[in-house]
Amino acid sequence: MAARTVIELDTVRKTYGDGTVAVAGLSLAVHEHEVLALVGPSGCGKSTTLRMVNRLVEPTSGRILLDGEDVTTADPVALRRRIGYVIQNVGLFPHRTVEANIATVPGLLGWDRARTRARVAELLDLVGLPAATYAKRYPHELSGGERQRIGVARALATDPPVLLMDEPFGAVDPEFRRHLQTEFQRIQRETGTTVILVTHDIDEAARLGDRIAVLSRGGVLEQVASPLAVLAHPASERVRDFIGDGSASRMLALAQVQAADLEGAERIVQPAPAPVRLGARLTDAFEAVAALPGSAMGRVPVVGESGDVVGSLTADGILGALRRAADASATDPGVAEVQGADLEDAPGRRAV
Ligand code: ADP
Repeated sequence: MAARTVIELDTVRKTYGDGTVAVAGLSLAVHEHEVLALVGPSGCGKSTTLRMVNRLVEPTSGRILLDGEDVTTADPVALRRRIGYVIQNVGLFPHRTVEANIATVPGLLGWDRARTRARVAELLDLVGLPAATYAKRYPHELSGGERQRIGVARALATDPPVLLMDEPFGAVDPEFRRHLQTEFQRIQRETGTTVILVTHDIDEAARLGDRIAVLSRGGVLEQVASPLAVLAHPASERVRDFIGDGSASRMLALAQVQAADLEGAERIVQPAPAPVRLGARLTDAFEAVAALPGSAMGRVPVVGESGDVVGSLTADGILGALRRAADASATDPGVAEVQGADLEDAPGRRAV
């Protein structure tokens, strides 16, 4: 079934007052419940694109539809209540408690105290910061990561169908970033919120995006596709340059061990080495094979959900799995690519 389009950018253009063309005519559709990662080098128009969706920036021309409704004619305040927004340094109000920060939009909407308090507790629970400990704290009493989580809780307060995130993990130190990304994934799966995530980091995009839209200077859409498809089949030299080295290892982290990659269990040397799971990331399978003692002849057992051995895997099997994943991604529905030059002069709608 085709995914429902929640946000549609239709030949959207932004020229700033000083003549800078930040976005030259971008068409892009965002599907319900997906995380669309908007990536590209600094200055390519990612933030401008994001901010046009909630009208912090007004497009010069083109249309942006939210659930089929043109946002450029919507009341901006009402619009922002339907669209959560999270930025790098969170922008929490320093003189308000955590509770008051999260309750900002419910307050604007006139929710009563009991409903607001219950929602705040629920959200703090969702982001893993218990209300009993955190509700009455002030932003300066929190770590960077905790502040970022409060920012997410605040953005989700009225359960908006859409969340815009602009480099949300950029200010968090690398060690903790991974943890927050995992946390974000859990929350997004739980809430089903449709997310546009702006990042300059291809690894973050590949990890968190259901699809990746790669932009180049001037908000030109180079490619929109699944992370595997972008890594395996970059649509242009610019995409290839942007990704840089390391595609194979990134793909290993995205693809999984499947039954088709296995050989028979009878060739496993006894005593059997520690197994990998069917469905494990290829990275983990590769590490398991690399760590085998010489006596294991390069072969790990693979177990199914019940824990029973269902076959064995070798380095060749992993390579085959990588090729299979790359080939399969070539036919992803999201793989269609668009050249910006065509788009700018496109007469009609060119949503991807
Ligand atoms: P990104 O988020 O990809 O780094 P931006 O959307 O912030 O890119 O910026 C795109 C281009 O627009 C850049 O050249 C930037 O300098 C320019 N720009 C952004 N904001 C403004 C502004 N308020 N006035 C003029 N130029 C701007």
